[in-house]
Amino acid sequence: MSEPEFTPRRAMSIHAHPDDQDFTVAGTLAKWARAGCEVISVILTSGEGGSNDPAHEAGYKPILAKIREGEQSAANKILGIKETIYLRCPDGELEPTVALRKEVTKLIRRHKPEAVVTGDPQAVFYGNGYINHPDHRAAAQVATYAVFPSAGSRLVFVDLLDEGYEPHNVKRLYLHGPEKPDTWVEITDTIDLKIAALKKHASQLKDWDPEKMICEWAEEEGKEKGMKYAEAYKVMILEHEEGHD
Ligand SMILES: [Zn+2]
Repeated sequence: MSEPEFTPRRAMSIHAHPDDQDFTVAGTLAKWARAGCEVISVILTSGEGGSNDPAHEAGYKPILAKIREGEQSAANKILGIKETIYLRCPDGELEPTVALRKEVTKLIRRHKPEAVVTGDPQAVFYGNGYINHPDHRAAAQVATYAVFPSAGSRLVFVDLLDEGYEPHNVKRLYLHGPEKPDTWVEITDTIDLKIAALKKHASQLKDWDPEKMICEWAEEEGKEKGMKYAEAYKVMILEHEEGHD
């Protein structure tokens, strides 16, 4: 028996680069936003390393960071995301430090999401053709361990407590790109928003149209569950809804 689909009242998406969220979980976020969920999008780096154009030197990095933040904000507007937060860590050098975990913990305690959405912290290789970017894995590790134990543990990061950030327990952690998914979110009604959001990342896509690939991925993920288009997750259920245990 499958339980009814969970829609959080508030959710936080935490990713390393502008566009990561839109390649992966944007259909889910748009669906939740449409249902009234307040979605906060946290982007840890501004993707200022995202150019291999020989004409672009170090001085171009702050310019590219601005361009990419603009692209992400435009994408998030399409998805119905309430707020976008840029932490501006250095692109390509993201590490799962305690200092960064503390920053993310502070955001979780401030915004109190019921669900946090991020990548799989265990993912190193995808198939035999893609090595997961270490920034992606670092972002996923930071988000996972900020959710548990840091956000809910009163005496961890006590200076946050002094600043008024009370502990907060996230109910569900959604990890995209797991080896073995256990939860499928149907995105048939929001895949068009996902594609439109992704297209806002013009500095990365150039002339390439991502529609065909995104539809193929979503078809593949939904196939097993009889869904036309889906995004698949491993979901950690950390706190059950009232009335259930
Ligand atoms: Zn990325």
